[in-house]
Amino acid sequence: MAAEAWILPVTDNPVDAAFWAATRQGRLLVQHCEACASHHFPPRVFCPGCHGPLAWVPAGESGRIWSFVTVHPPLLPAYQALAPYRVVVVEPEGVPGIRMIGNLLTTPDADIGASRDTAIAIGDRVRLCFRQLTEDVTLPCWIRISSKEN
Ligand SMILES: [Zn+2]
Repeated sequence: MAAEAWILPVTDNPVDAAFWAATRQGRLLVQHCEACASHHFPPRVFCPGCHGPLAWVPAGESGRIWSFVTVHPPLLPAYQALAPYRVVVVEPEGVPGIRMIGNLLTTPDADIGASRDTAIAIGDRVRLCFRQLTEDVTLPCWIRISSKEN
């Protein structure tokens, strides 16, 4: 089923338009508050810690799996045929405290269901890749590169 049938994010919201513009260019950004030296994601209007202004900064292109789940039916019809597939919560390097949810892929072009048999564990290293779903929506995704011991 085409990605257009998926529930896709709105990409022109002023709060997170810069995030989606960056993913279309193959860059992953999070917000940073200089006043209290904290990183934030998902995007916000101001720092939830000190109410200071937030600036966009790049996140690392690799990270570690903080948690994961294997998604099974019942699911919405657009996702049913893809299951089971893996969804990971990743801590990208260079942006302490940030955790991002994304699909685990085996290669940048693989179906998300191909990850179902990938042996993964919390702490495993992953690298960032991007998957363009529509003209507006490019999702950050992750590929496992090594176990947590490496
Ligand atoms: Zn702050």
